[in-house]
Amino acid sequence: MENGRTEPGELIALEDRWGAHNYRPLDVILERASGVWAYDTEGKRYLDCLSAYSALNQGHCHPRIVQALQEQAARCTLTSRAFRNDQLPHFVADLARICEMEMVLPMNSGAEAVESAIKAMRQWGYSSKGIPAGRAEIVVCANNFHGRTTTEIGFSSEPLYRDGFGPFTPGFVSVPFGDSEALEEAITPNTCGFLFEPIQCEAGILIPPDGYLSDVAEICRRNDVLMAADEIQTGLGRTGYMFACQHEGVQPDIYILGKALSGGMYPVSAVVSSAGILGLFRPGSHGSTYGGNPLACAVARAALRVIEEERLAERSAELGAWFLYELRKLRHPHIREIRGRGLLVGIELMVPARTYCERLKELGMLCKETHDYVIRLAPPLIISEEELSWAVGQVAKAFEA
Ligand SMILES: *Cc1c(COP(=O)(O)O)cnc(C)c1O
Repeated sequence: MENGRTEPGELIALEDRWGAHNYRPLDVILERASGVWAYDTEGKRYLDCLSAYSALNQGHCHPRIVQALQEQAARCTLTSRAFRNDQLPHFVADLARICEMEMVLPMNSGAEAVESAIKAMRQWGYSSKGIPAGRAEIVVCANNFHGRTTTEIGFSSEPLYRDGFGPFTPGFVSVPFGDSEALEEAITPNTCGFLFEPIQCEAGILIPPDGYLSDVAEICRRNDVLMAADEIQTGLGRTGYMFACQHEGVQPDIYILGKALSGGMYPVSAVVSSAGILGLFRPGSHGSTYGGNPLACAVARAALRVIEEERLAERSAELGAWFLYELRKLRHPHIREIRGRGLLVGIELMVPARTYCERLKELGMLCKETHDYVIRLAPPLIISEEELSWAVGQVAKAFEA
């Protein structure tokens, strides 16, 4: 039967019967979306306040990105890196300029970009820092989220991500997030890098104390350790700057990007760094069949152009400040704290957040709880003031009920 005519209950049954159950989605079946709005199979519309974990900073189906996708899809989609293509050069040049960096390594998923950054840091550790073979260490933070590969979950502190999936890759040391002294103590002569999120999103929108990022930059520089910022979720305008590290004027050695790099249109990720680090890769030492394909590059170029030309980082800063100010007027015994940077806001509750997310869904707003007790509010950055003000009203209603 054609997808559009299948009853919602039947669609859910099909998915649950044939699909692996590695997610527990809200029972809303989306079939089309535009800008900040998504529509279910019954035609009910919802304000998307998750934005696919910030992959949709540019909004759903942004016309300029759709156009780039359609045009490139009809022209040339995949060449493999065995040959050159005419889109990749523009993409890497644009992204390097935006990051104020020298080199770009294009990949597909965020998890793959993190893996690639780990390889880059280790390689630099051996060939530039002189770490003995097989001894490189990378410091990570407790409560991190860097993706789902076996290496990445191996240095996660979340039992749900790890349990039953070992054995894991050695060479990682964990320190508390937001504690720069702990980082300094964990560094040894074999440490090649520090991998961190400038704001821990999956852990519940945890914002480090002021001065943390600049302290980290200073500690890494002094100890000859690479500072690798996983900005897959916080980057590309989400927190009110192009990159969350810029809140403290910090330029890390490595940016890891994904999600909004393609505006929700296609999986595109990248590691962005200096020639001294990414320049160490030799032909054959790393690769990806789809990484840097012309379709991905054309889409990413359009996605980046939208972020810059529509001034999405500035919008996020302005609208986010207002949003946070309005939300903080809410008074309810279940609300423990409301925090945020730009249009990345967490409402931490004293009770599990799922009930509130279900209630908001009924009120026409899509949100997902993060770390059980936090409602994450992260609408597309193209949201209008009116729509944002409507969102504040719906959140208030959810807490009145
Ligand atoms: C989403 C995310 C990843 C993983 O990206 P995928 O595309 O899901 O593999 C890694 N790090 C952070 C901070 C993320 O938010």
